[in-house]
Amino acid sequence: SVPVICIDGPTASGKGTLAVEVAHDLGYHYLDSGALYRVTGLAMRRAGLEADPAHETQIADLARTLPLRFDAGKAMLAGEDVTDEIRSEAAGMDASRVSALPAVRSALKDLQISFRKLPGLVADGRDMGTVIFPDAPLKVFLTASAAQRAERRHKQLISKGIQTTLDSLRSDLEARDLRDSSRSVAPLKPAEDARRLDNSNLSIEQSVDQVLNWWQQ
Ligand code: C5P
Repeated sequence: SVPVICIDGPTASGKGTLAVEVAHDLGYHYLDSGALYRVTGLAMRRAGLEADPAHETQIADLARTLPLRFDAGKAMLAGEDVTDEIRSEAAGMDASRVSALPAVRSALKDLQISFRKLPGLVADGRDMGTVIFPDAPLKVFLTASAAQRAERRHKQLISKGIQTTLDSLRSDLEARDLRDSSRSVAPLKPAEDARRLDNSNLSIEQSVDQVLNWWQQ
């Protein structure tokens, strides 16, 4: 079957950067599953809905029929470039809220599986190894301390000219981690057969090398 490498972990652990690099080195496709939840959150806002169970079916319908395309790393929603809009902290919170709705998670399942194409896929998210690709030959659970993650996110946002404080970022990401790991459906947790990687003190290159080493084993 088509090879998949799953990279799961909490908010701002560096999954995206690591997954993109590994995909690039292997010439594999890349799935940013968080972007699907972020775009669903945006579509929900635009439809004037709130992420609560009363709107679950409607939001799931939006998710199932998202007019979404990824084009050279850009997220295009009905032809509109929403890449920057879905990266805001508010969009992250909305994503986390819609992702707690079971109907939304199942509505996005087939779309995620459709990314599994030759020569292979690197998928990043929360439940790639536990739910979406349970048969993946390599699953990595990536972590970093909350302080490290807040600092990285802070640098990223500042470099984009977005003003925030370390404290507010840290409390945002701890709130998101708590919601992601305590929800009843597909909670954030390592797959039983996942390799743990704490990158708090690793460079991106060192993390990439570790994953490629595991892959070649
Ligand atoms: O990874 P990212 O921060 O873009 O994900 C945004 C939110 O989407 C996460 O906080 C999480 O709640 C949700 N998510 C999820 N399952 C995934 C990917 C993301 O529940 N596979």
